[in-house]
Amino acid sequence: MKSTLIKCGWLVTLDPDIGDLKGGELLIAGNAIKAAGRSLNATADETIDASDKIVMPGLVNAHMHTWETALRGIAVEWMSADYFKNVHSNLATRYKPEDNYIANLMGALAQIDAGCTTLVDWCHNITSIEHAERAVDGLIDSGIRAVFAHGTAKPIGLETGTPFTHVPHPRERVEALRKGRLASDDARVTLAMAILGPDWGAWEVVEHDIRMAREFGLVSSSHTRRREDCVVPDGYAKMAKAGLLGPDHNLVHGTSYDTADLRVVVDNGATLTSTVLVELHHHIGDAMVAAYREQGGAPSLGIDVELYCSGQMFREMQAALLFARGKEVRNNALRGNSPLKTNPVRSREALEWATINGAKAFKLDGKIGTLTPGKKADIVMLNADDVNMAPVYDPVYSIVEIAGAGNVDTVIIDGVIRKRNGKLTFGEAEYRRRLNELKESGARIMRDGNYKVASAPH
Ligand SMILES: [Zn+2]
Repeated sequence: MKSTLIKCGWLVTLDPDIGDLKGGELLIAGNAIKAAGRSLNATADETIDASDKIVMPGLVNAHMHTWETALRGIAVEWMSADYFKNVHSNLATRYKPEDNYIANLMGALAQIDAGCTTLVDWCHNITSIEHAERAVDGLIDSGIRAVFAHGTAKPIGLETGTPFTHVPHPRERVEALRKGRLASDDARVTLAMAILGPDWGAWEVVEHDIRMAREFGLVSSSHTRRREDCVVPDGYAKMAKAGLLGPDHNLVHGTSYDTADLRVVVDNGATLTSTVLVELHHHIGDAMVAAYREQGGAPSLGIDVELYCSGQMFREMQAALLFARGKEVRNNALRGNSPLKTNPVRSREALEWATINGAKAFKLDGKIGTLTPGKKADIVMLNADDVNMAPVYDPVYSIVEIAGAGNVDTVIIDGVIRKRNGKLTFGEAEYRRRLNELKESGARIMRDGNYKVASAPH
């Protein structure tokens, strides 16, 4: 088993028992963290001099529709209705299994490049087991750690005559994956279920889907929706009453929630993921990071769709933090209080939202999210001497408020180096080949859907 000793400029473990260490050391053995401390007196097969770097846990992107990578950027001026018309009702229906593969491969590589080591791939464009299999292949081939959340395509009603809201999650596909290649919860790619939930699906479907997820021992996740559009009114409260809402369920957005709604989530141990950049783009309500946190929730963060915004988790983390801080400052003023004397949201909290909290939401916190001995070696190193970074005083301040994807020098996932010296280790020729496939995939999907980006130069 290969061992690697990393001599860090700064070691940010996020493990409260170890803390942050200037000049700390991290020892990896195989795919796991063996030790973390100030001076380990360890010998190793390889030593990495990271004295000019900040060493930190890999970021966790807790919600992304990676299958949309080939359509990146087309929606930056769309509004909500455009998304459903152009994507779910049109472009999504043009996808072949190979389109899911190339989107997931290239989308996951972009995540690695930007310092994300774990991706929750909320794959809701699956119309056959081949679409699912190839989406999983893309994640596996990228080298990322991923939760493949098996979902269903929205226009499924077009084929069956039944509206998608009334179609239960297809058992045979989940069963095939769970009893086959995604049987292990200890593998680099694991399984979850991306379900309609009560805002998008009928009550019978909700009951069926949650029971099925529990039967297979899977976390389920669902999108919330504008209150007046929900299929089941007060659906999550109804789920709670029926014993169907618990720590094995994750909600995404919640931007129309009030305090009572958040209490239902927190009191039942369910989790809530915000995708602040996309929510700022066109959601009617506020991102829930601040309000959820005030109710004792542990926010997690995701990118959602790269059609609207950058997929960089550093940017998402910064947007979430600034939004939450601004919200707390304004709330304090609205309550008639004198100006706050201490910052209401610490930087370290935002780093936890983007690491350990995402891990907790998908039951991965025993494996990732902090640099704790015994956990998997999912590690990111940032160049502390880059022109936008130096000098570094508090490495957490620098990670959360100063750094960007361009500062990511090294990414290790499951003990394997996936980026080094600022370059992906995927292989240049292979990357070029796959890049062409991604471009061809996007062009074909848009051609078949007779969709053009109206403002694009010709
Ligand atoms: Zn989403």
